Amino acid sequence: MQKYSLYSLVRNSFTRHRNWSPAWINHDLKKSYDVIIIGGGGHGLATAYYLAKGYGVTNIAVLERGWLGGGNVARNTVTIRSNYLRQESIPFFIKSVEMYEGLSNELNFNLMHSRRSMIDIIQTYPKLREITRKMYTMDIFGSTYKPISVSEIRRRIPTLTGGGKDSRLPIIAGMVHPEGAVNRHDAVAWGYARAASSLGVEIHQNTKVNSLLKNDDGTIRGVSTVKGEIWADRVAVAVSGHTTQLTDTVGLRLPLRSFNLSAFVSEPVKPMIDVVVNCPDLGVYLSQTAKGELVIGGAPDPGQSFRRGTNQLVFERTVGAMLELFPSFKKLKLLRQWGGTVDIAPDASPIISETEIPGLYITAGWWGGYKAIPAGGLTFANLIATNTPHQLTKSFTLDRFKTLDYILEPGTTTRV
Ligand SMILES: Cc1cc2nc3c(=O)[nH]c(=O)nc-3n(C[C@H](O)[C@H](O)[C@H](O)COP(=O)(O)OP(=O)(O)OC[C@H]3O[C@@H](n4cnc5c(N)ncnc54)[C@H](O)[C@@H]3O)c2cc1C
Repeated sequence: MQKYSLYSLVRNSFTRHRNWSPAWINHDLKKSYDVIIIGGGGHGLATAYYLAKGYGVTNIAVLERGWLGGGNVARNTVTIRSNYLRQESIPFFIKSVEMYEGLSNELNFNLMHSRRSMIDIIQTYPKLREITRKMYTMDIFGSTYKPISVSEIRRRIPTLTGGGKDSRLPIIAGMVHPEGAVNRHDAVAWGYARAASSLGVEIHQNTKVNSLLKNDDGTIRGVSTVKGEIWADRVAVAVSGHTTQLTDTVGLRLPLRSFNLSAFVSEPVKPMIDVVVNCPDLGVYLSQTAKGELVIGGAPDPGQSFRRGTNQLVFERTVGAMLELFPSFKKLKLLRQWGGTVDIAPDASPIISETEIPGLYITAGWWGGYKAIPAGGLTFANLIATNTPHQLTKSFTLDRFKTLDYILEPGTTTRV
């Protein structure tokens, strides 16, 4: 892998940057592999990288129906945090946030990782009770979530002029999570792709998987793609909101529902918010990018669907919520809006699991899974390589739905 550094940047400038080697190599598709990973998003690429790096499994094909980083990894609002409620979740997300902090160096790719702090604005007493529980549980595991006074919130976020004593929902409390961060979504996909490719992993774009294939004995045989059948003893599904469309092809029913989740971006403005602001009671969160745009997110659409777009009702509620707290933002122009399909399990926690079809593995239920890409990839690679769940994700298997050991997590926004 060609090393990216100040030296290589200067050296390549003498040849007008014409001699950089490609970030990843294109290959002809083979008939069979040791492992097929379906989905060239964050989780699929990270899994391929950790399988090759940690377990020496390099005969891997990552099959992506579109282009790398065209799915939710590029559609999300890049909020990275470990402020979760359950003892099963917190250590996993702490690990992921820690891994992100060292990932630019590890992948030799600038992810523009920026630790910002996340401030939760609380406006109702039920939410205050919930976050207080969160604070105590997180404290046990070493993740920080500390109360912050309303005046301190207003000092740190001067544009937050709404939510006063006479408003519909006055701000009553707040929490600060210093580990909260943002980074550059494309770079995460490209960084993992480049590092995996340098270890021998094959990445095949424009290779849609139409269905999964089983042997007569019920084990996995491989996949049927737009370019023909490809075989492997181990097939890993990492297709985000489209998991059930693939698993349905072998009659495997999963406890997942797919929803459209949307986000909006404003015109770029001067730096004014240097934290991630989250308002769970109103259902809106936002941060400001290095370019100056505000990235704004809200709740998923109320009904299930595979559409990718913006539901007018969700749009109005989210923007309305933002204006309640930040009235001056009414002058901002919104530049873009988009949606992505996320799948959500009944307990809103992820599924990293072997399935009832031997050799078929899934990583799914990632409706807030950008922050989980490093640890998700690491632990999924461990499962595929050893057929044993990783210590951090042993509670996230499909078995919990048989024993009703749900890991109930409230979302960032209130409606899930
Ligand atoms: C608007 C929005 C905001 C979000 N905000 C946040 C946030 O702030 N923080 C956070 O942690 N998470 C957030 N998320 C969730 C996060 O984006 C996802 O959980 C995470 O990106 C999913 O993992 P992934 O990167 O592997 O998915 P993807 O990037 O979607 O990867 C899946 C890939 O599979 C491919 N694929 C699908 N079907 C097939 C097929 N049949 N054959 C081959 N390839 C296929 C897709 O093209 C896609 O590239 C957000 C999501 C959305 C939509």
